[in-house]
Amino acid sequence: MDAECLFCRIAAGTVPSTQVHADDRVIAFRDIAPAAPVHVLLIPRRHVASAADLGDDDGALLGHLFAVANEVAGREGIAESGFRIVTNVGPDSGYTVPHLHFHLLGGRRMSWPPG
Ligand code: AMP
Ligand code: ZN
Repeated sequence: MDAECLFCRIAAGTVPSTQVHADDRVIAFRDIAPAAPVHVLLIPRRHVASAADLGDDDGALLGHLFAVANEVAGREGIAESGFRIVTNVGPDSGYTVPHLHFHLLGGRRMSWPPG
């Protein structure tokens, strides 16, 4: 827990969020500025700054996080229509919150390549 970190505080419940999933390792909550009809953020409870800090030892955590993402996608009704999972790293990506988070986006047609 990093007391200065917004998403650590959301995970701890000291900053409110609209949670759609919570367990001992991962929480998921609605993005405050949704970029699609479904826009959920999935984060590890453990403070990890970004995907650049992940390695071989994080396989179980990531597998679990993606299992949760798939479960949430099903509940949100986008499992069949499709969705995008994206994580940003560093200034060029548009990264704004320095706690690892995966955006789960769906409910509309998306373009490629991303802007
Ligand atoms: P990124 O630009 O990849 O770092 O994404 C950060 C995301 O966090 C953005 O989509 C923001 O809208 C979202 N966000 C920032 N503050 C909050 C908050 N308090 N609750 C939910 N989502 C947030
Ligand atoms: Zn954090």
